[in-house]
Amino acid sequence: MQPVDSSRRRLLGGLASVSLAASLGTATAQAQARVRTNAHIVIVGSGLGGIAAANRLSRQLDGARITIVDKREAHFYQPGWTLVASGIWPADKTVDSNARYHPEGVEWVKENVAEFDPVANALVTESGQRISYDFLIVATGCQLNYGAIEGMDTSAIGQNGLGSVYHSVDAAAATWTAMDAFRKTGGRAVALMPHTPMKCAGAPVKMAFMLADRLREAGKLEQSSIRFYSGVGTVFGVPAYNELILDRFDTLGIGVEFNQRLASIDIGSRRATFVGAEGEKTEADYDFIHVVPPMSAPDAVRNSPLAWQDGNFAAGGWLEVDEKTLRHRRFPNVFGLGDVNGTRRGKTAATVKAGVPIVVTHLIEAINGQENSQQFNGYTSCPLIVREGSALLVEFDYEGNLVPSLPFVDPMQESYFAWVLKHRMLLPAYRAVLRGRA
Ligand SMILES: Cc1cc2nc3c(=O)[nH]c(=O)nc-3n(C[C@H](O)[C@H](O)[C@H](O)COP(=O)(O)OP(=O)(O)OC[C@H]3O[C@@H](n4cnc5c(N)ncnc54)[C@H](O)[C@@H]3O)c2cc1C
Repeated sequence: MQPVDSSRRRLLGGLASVSLAASLGTATAQAQARVRTNAHIVIVGSGLGGIAAANRLSRQLDGARITIVDKREAHFYQPGWTLVASGIWPADKTVDSNARYHPEGVEWVKENVAEFDPVANALVTESGQRISYDFLIVATGCQLNYGAIEGMDTSAIGQNGLGSVYHSVDAAAATWTAMDAFRKTGGRAVALMPHTPMKCAGAPVKMAFMLADRLREAGKLEQSSIRFYSGVGTVFGVPAYNELILDRFDTLGIGVEFNQRLASIDIGSRRATFVGAEGEKTEADYDFIHVVPPMSAPDAVRNSPLAWQDGNFAAGGWLEVDEKTLRHRRFPNVFGLGDVNGTRRGKTAATVKAGVPIVVTHLIEAINGQENSQQFNGYTSCPLIVREGSALLVEFDYEGNLVPSLPFVDPMQESYFAWVLKHRMLLPAYRAVLRGRA
């Protein structure tokens, strides 16, 4: 890390507070009188959403019993993994511990939930422990379905030109190992995004941009080819950004194929097979591939009555919440936070940041027997890296309207500022969200 002189430190300090209101949303923690209750609140998932909610609830409630259920002890700053996979950050910068952020006094059941029984206001853990609740917050994030890709072996990430930033911190580091080896020779690269909703829908695109950037840096871009296979008809769900990304891809010589799902991969032969909308197969030989798996809600949610039963989100078993209140549509004592929600947009840390105060407010209103007072607009955001040192600050709502929170940042213009936000300021901002302070 470079030394920071005092004037730069002041600047970064000032910008860091701006950044809390920018890429991670605008809501602030409100000082409120503590509400007295003996309710038992169970939070499933000790990721960003679960811990942030636990911290806010334990500050705002007096007498509540709060239980977190999640077997994972490590905490990962997943937004940093694209930087790890591009050789910019060391992997350990994204690794932390859940215990460090849990508020005092919460119970932690170090197991995963196997079954939800919302009719009986209860859940069952993998060991068979049954836990009853008065209120439930589901914050289990996404499930990565690598198994849906025939021949895929996550233990091979980093070898044979196989990269995949999503799998884990080790896979992010191994992706860089594979990308670094590839850029020395150049050749045929394949990048892709799946047909399902996914966390940080910008990450597959960022990886394609960083691949081009690393090849350019090594002087191998001209003699290489990059093809981006999208599982849907766009490369980004917001039309203005879709156009902008396609323009930039064109400038960089990145070819795009639409409605192509990765069906199978032969890791040893470095051959990927995509299936098109009509079932037609296309084979792509590559020297480097960046795989993004299809995603769904975790099986425990997907196979439970809490999942959408029909409509667009039923196939992935996403949580059936009302998109404005983040409250379950059929079980009113259940709330959803973060990536697991079956809503039109919003699988980013920035969405969690904006959603946590709303869920906490609505849960406390429910304790008080009051109507829900707030409406979530679906705020979603991420700094879309286009090369090392430059990014676009992408912010939009459910309708796909651009909702820039910093008047001096043009949302359609890449900038060094948006890069600094990503590189220097969002990790402290993320930790403030975890602590329920932003
Ligand atoms: C490569 C990558 C890049 C990203 N880039 C950005 C970015 O630039 N900007 C941005 O805003 N966001 C980004 N994100 C997305 C961001 O990390 C997520 O949106 C955010 O972490 C979601 O928080 P969450 O609480 O919903 O889920 P998570 O933080 O993923 O936590 C889910 C928790 O639930 C637990 N869990 C799962 N199943 C069960 C079960 N059955 N029982 C109990 N516990 C369970 C898991 O162990 C985990 O601890 C990125 C993500 C990735 C992977």
